[in-house]
This record gives sequence, C-alpha cells and structure tokens, in this order.
Amino acid sequence: MNRFVKPRVVVSRCIGFERCRYNGQIISSDEVKEMRDHVDFLTVCPESDIGLGVPRDPVRLVFNGEKRRLVQPNTGKDFTKNMVDYSEDFLTQNPDVDGFILKSKSPSCGLKETRIYTGIDDHSTRGKGPGFFGNEVLTRRPRKAIETEGRLRNYQIREHFLTKIYAFADFRDRKGSQDLKKLKEFHDHNRLLFKSYDEELYQKMDDVLEQNEDVSELYDRYEDLLYELFNQAPQCESKIQIMDGLFQDFKDMIDKDEIAFFKESLEDYKKGNTSLDVPLSILYTWLLRFKDANLKDQSFFFPYPKDLVRLEDVRTCISRDYWNF
Ligand code: SF4
Repeated sequence: MNRFVKPRVVVSRCIGFERCRYNGQIISSDEVKEMRDHVDFLTVCPESDIGLGVPRDPVRLVFNGEKRRLVQPNTGKDFTKNMVDYSEDFLTQNPDVDGFILKSKSPSCGLKETRIYTGIDDHSTRGKGPGFFGNEVLTRRPRKAIETEGRLRNYQIREHFLTKIYAFADFRDRKGSQDLKKLKEFHDHNRLLFKSYDEELYQKMDDVLEQNEDVSELYDRYEDLLYELFNQAPQCESKIQIMDGLFQDFKDMIDKDEIAFFKESLEDYKKGNTSLDVPLSILYTWLLRFKDANLKDQSFFFPYPKDLVRLEDVRTCISRDYWNF
C-alpha cells in the first residue's frame, strides 16, 4: 500500500476550528473534519488576525468603480491596507503549502462568490468576486490546490482536490532532497494517474527526466509541468483507456466470464451507470492475484488515503466539459 506524505493545507479558521466569525459562530464541514487526521492544517482568520475581535461589526467588500476596499459600515472604518499587508505577510511566511480551503462568500476569505457593494451604506451590489485574502491567494499561489469548503461537498471536486494535495506534498518532500532517483520514482509511481490527466504532458515530464541537466533545474522544470497537469480536470475517457490497457495484460490469464463481467462494468461506467470503483476493484484483484507489484503501487488506484473515500461516493464518468474550475 502507498505511503503518503501529509499535505500542508491552509484553512479558514472558522471552518470547524474556532468560533471566530463576526457573530461568534463556527461553520461545520464534514469534509474538513474528515481530513484532520490526514492533513497538516494551518488555520487562518484574517479578520481576527488583524485585530477586529470576536464578535465584531461585519465588514464588506466595496467597489466604487476605482478601488476595491474592505470597510466596516457600522463604524465607517477602512481595513483595506491592514488586510492587504496581512495577506502578503502570511503568504510570504508560509511558502510551502500544498493547498487552501477557504470560507466561501466571505469579504476576506471568499474566492469568487463574495458580494461586492457599490458603496459603504448601499444595498445594491455590482456582481461578485474574491475576498481580499482569497484574492491574494489566487494571485500569488495560483498553481496550488484552492477550494472553498462548499465546493468540497461535491465528490468530483473533492477527489480532484485530494489527488492534487497528496501529489504536491509527495513532490515537495522529494524536491527537498534534490535527489534525482526520488524524482524518477515519483514519476514512475504516478505514471497511470498522470496519463489519465493528460498523456501529452506526461510525455513532456518523461522528456524532462531524460535531460542531462543540473538536478535542481530538472526539479523546477518538472514542477512546472506537474502544476500544468493538475490545472485541468481529470479525464474520464482516459481512465477508461488506461483500465482497458491494463485489462489487455490480463485477458489471457482469466476466464471468459471474468472478461465479460469486467467489460460490462467498464461499459456501465462509461454510460454513467456505475461507479469507477467497480472496474477498478476488479483490476486491482487481478494485480494482487497475479502479483504485479509494480502496477499495484500505482497512485492511479489509491491517489490519497482510503480513509478519505466515502462509501456513498459514486464515482461516475463525467466529461471534462462538465468541470468549472
Ligand atoms: S471567513 Fe475568514 S475572516 Fe471570516 S471568520 Fe472565517 S476565517 Fe475569519
């Protein structure tokens, strides 16, 4: 079974860690709770951390057509500079994180869906956008895994997020060693997973490892491609191709009923009638039965700890067009 490096993830503190919302409340998230034993969380509450206290008068995002501001309508105070300075300092002091889980719709932590008001006392809004801290994260760490607690309730989004943070954590750990052998092992361990995301980019990563260059240069070039690979949604159709390719290796060793059952499960997955776990589990039992140690350790089968897989998750085949990152 795979060994996993614990990812480092920045999380909004009000998501299950502290009653630090403006009204003294806390947000509950089953998804964050489940990750607590498997992830090194670094909590952040930009509003409390700049000294606003709990409880506090709420702040809001205002844009008058010229400048975005973070203001407190009840007091008339403007916290824009404090929040920008805080966000920059926080991200500078914490460069080695693999992902972020931020509270949706917050004028500080929100990523896209925070209401933007036309004035400090206005009721009218001019669309939605990121909060101040969220904006800094999106601008300064765009390649990391970044999600809100709300979006993680969607299984497909959560799986993509978990896959990324575990791959990034493993890579970060190996990069720290500057050992070329460890980079090659990483590439080999993730071969099928990376191909399922993008075969062409996988080949480019392969090419990087063939270059006769300084190790740190190779790590940097490989890292750029790794982020590019995960910047897109996973490919359901590629997963099917990979499973079909693995099946070809075994088809002469299994009987016709097993073949028929596997093909049916693959077809059902393709049509969206069954979960990915069905054909994947059949393949995995063949790997165990025929003692294929190399394939058995592929991250394609277990990209993150199985404790984070929920029984109710039905991993259906969803085309890349469905995704909206
Ligand atoms: S959304 Fe962000 S700033 Fe607001 S309470 Fe939660 S952690 Fe603090």
